[in-house]
Amino acid sequence: MIQIASLSFSYGKKEIFHGLTLEIPEPVACLMGPSGSGKTTLLRLIAGLLKPGEGRITGVSEPVSFLFQEDRLLPWFSAEENVAAVLPKEKRGDAASWLRRVELPEESFASPPGKLSGGQQRRVALARALAFGEKGLLILDEPFKGLDAALAERMIDLILKQERPLLVSTHSTEEARLLGGAVLTLPAGRV
Ligand code: ADP
Ligand code: MG
Repeated sequence: MIQIASLSFSYGKKEIFHGLTLEIPEPVACLMGPSGSGKTTLLRLIAGLLKPGEGRITGVSEPVSFLFQEDRLLPWFSAEENVAAVLPKEKRGDAASWLRRVELPEESFASPPGKLSGGQQRRVALARALAFGEKGLLILDEPFKGLDAALAERMIDLILKQERPLLVSTHSTEEARLLGGAVLTLPAGRV
């Protein structure tokens, strides 16, 4: 279980969290809340990508794998190379099987992200997140945007099969229901 104790965080003068205390149960938790409520910021704090001003975050299973809200694929690499890049040398050959699992068409494996649809790029980013980090915490920031409901449901099955602790931000109560687990809702942020 991830424990957040008396967490404060600001971007410059803009305070996002003040004295936030929260327990995030494992294995599955969904983080909900309106845009601007701080979901991405909290996920980045949990992953250690941002440092809290005050407070502590403990109980995070390392290594953390993070699917960013924006895909952040490397534009000059092929889809397959984007996944291979996070694998140890002796496992680079697994990249193709991760792409198959996210249902990327075989003929697109060698294409750069710019030649793929938005939903395909999202799934390459998901494949990369799944390929990394063995049994560490998997953080997915709005993972299913751009995917139709049936495909999102199959991706949820794939994600749950990994048997690793999972923390997902989403706006969709249906996705949260399919993921199961705890639902934590951040209140609307101050404007
Ligand atoms: P959510 O993911 O729930 O939409 P975010 O964590 O992205 O929320 O944003 C929370 C608040 O922090 C918003 O008001 C947003 O504008 C602000 N914010 C996010 N990133 C930055 C940043 N790098 N610098 C300044 N403000 C930011
Ligand atoms: Mg966000």
